[in-house]
Amino acid sequence: MDTLIRAGMLYPVTSQPIENGWLLLSNGRIVRIGSGPAPRTDETIDLTGHLVMPGFVNAHCHLQFTAARGTMPSGDFIEWVRAAIAYSSNISLDGMLRGVEEGVEELLASGTTAVGDIASHPAVAEKVTRSFMRTVVFAETIAPDEKSGDPAWRLCLDLLNLVRNNGGQAGLAPHGPHTVAPQYFAALFRYAHEQGIPITSHVAESIEEKRFIASGDGPFRALMHNRGALADDFRGHGKSPVMLIQQQMALRQLIAAHLNEVDDEDVAALVAANAIPVFCPGSSRWFGRKKVMPLDRFFEAGLAPCLGTDSAASNGSLSMLDELRAARGYFGEIPLGRLIEAATINGARALGLDCGAFEPGLWADISAYPLQNSLRLEAVLAAKEAVFVMVGGKVARNTA
Ligand SMILES: [Zn+2]
Repeated sequence: MDTLIRAGMLYPVTSQPIENGWLLLSNGRIVRIGSGPAPRTDETIDLTGHLVMPGFVNAHCHLQFTAARGTMPSGDFIEWVRAAIAYSSNISLDGMLRGVEEGVEELLASGTTAVGDIASHPAVAEKVTRSFMRTVVFAETIAPDEKSGDPAWRLCLDLLNLVRNNGGQAGLAPHGPHTVAPQYFAALFRYAHEQGIPITSHVAESIEEKRFIASGDGPFRALMHNRGALADDFRGHGKSPVMLIQQQMALRQLIAAHLNEVDDEDVAALVAANAIPVFCPGSSRWFGRKKVMPLDRFFEAGLAPCLGTDSAASNGSLSMLDELRAARGYFGEIPLGRLIEAATINGARALGLDCGAFEPGLWADISAYPLQNSLRLEAVLAAKEAVFVMVGGKVARNTA
């Protein structure tokens, strides 16, 4: 069945906005875009009072932490890490899975149609994969030392197989260069490359991580030591997090979340490796960070940064609308169109998904927001929720 969607303003993202534009869909995919007289179809959806654009792609999320919302400290990062470890040990499976469901609903409500979700629990990986959204589930690995490497590897492969057996798309997520020993980070990177799947990590998120990787001391030393995951003679790598990953030949097209603590040498290495930064402004705000990812420099250097909410444990919201506003709060000089690219097509390309723009052949993943008075593209910044959401031609939400 063919469907026509009429828009007050159609924003394809990879081409200019179209006043009174339309989209022709067939079998869940976009067939044509246009304006003026439209083809006759079996079904027409009238969104003429609305801005219609591709659904958001949230490039960095942890739905298994949604149930931690409201229970976590803000400000001090190490205190937060301790609370996150305690949450993971204490939360019931039912509670965690209810959180995943709530998180998916919240993502969809903001017009997010695809998510790169980091999971370490099989039941979470399965639930996210089977959700209404388009998903890439990243199997998370923590392997700081020799003895944790083999069990972590097996768990990671089990998660990958589980996602694939459920018809989903999978990726790898070595947690970070401070929690995954260099040899495992490099091995995971090589495996992702061989398999042709995306790989993501938290990189240079905090000053504490930077210090631990450089010199082996600071609060992360005590934290790792208490967990029995640190050799007594570890004295750091004498490098920044980014340069440590580069040394492992694992930076090329790495989807690198946060990158708050980067210097000029790091930026040059990330650009040379065509890495994919993921800005998580809600998380940066949660921790009151003064220094955040140099998003403007990454755009200027020709990289394709993405936007992510991170988890509800370090962000009050999983709404990509809130995330877009938070990004705008940090980088008001970056044109809105570029921020929307980060929140749509750049995320889709990073995750290897056929969505994130209105082009023939891509999935019909669509969101719509009320056009208020003279607001055009800026209508997205004024919206609390999406009034219409479609994933692969299937309507997830329609209050238009
Ligand atoms: Zn994260």
